[in-house]
This record gives sequence, C-alpha cells and structure tokens, in this order.
Amino acid sequence: MKTLTVTERLAANRFVLDEEQPHIVVHQELAKATGTAARIIAACPAKVYSWAADGSVAVEYAACLECGTCLAIADPGTLEWHYPSGPYGVQFREG
Ligand code: SF4
Repeated sequence: MKTLTVTERLAANRFVLDEEQPHIVVHQELAKATGTAARIIAACPAKVYSWAADGSVAVEYAACLECGTCLAIADPGTLEWHYPSGPYGVQFREG
C-alpha cells in the first residue's frame, strides 16, 4: 500500500462553498497594521491566505480545513471566522 504525502491527503478533501455567506472575513487594514495578515499567511496549513497583487490578503475559502489556527493567532478585530453552516464546509476524505 502506497503511503500518501500530506499534500496528497489534503487534496482528497472536498469543500462545499457557501457563496452567499463566506465563513472568513479579513479586516484588511487592521490585519496588516497588527501583523495578523503576515501571521495567518505563514501559519495556515492549507494556504488559504496569500498576498494579493494590491497588497491585501486574498482568501481561498474552498481550501479551509476548519482547524481554527488563524482565529487563535489573530489579533482581536482583525478576523471574523465561523464554521460554515448546514451542508457547507470541508469533507475529509481518505486519499
Ligand atoms: S481555519 Fe485553519 S485551514 Fe482554515 S483558514 Fe484558518 S488556519 Fe487555514
């Protein structure tokens, strides 16, 4: 039996996106001013956050593993995060 890499295992997950209610909102100016932006970009294991060309934080919601790391390290008021409601969110799969 082949041993999968972490990247291969993560790629097997599926995410049902709630187009009308994103579960992550970054308050851009405060997140940059406090250093939260740089921290969440560096810490997110799924690479949900990245720097956009305009200097803002881009958020790829569909990759979120719902681990809560970003919320734990964000300064107060910089990030809104909640679990996706109902049928939305990550579905973990074995690769
Ligand atoms: S909850 Fe985890 S996977 Fe989702 S954006 Fe935050 S750090 Fe990344």
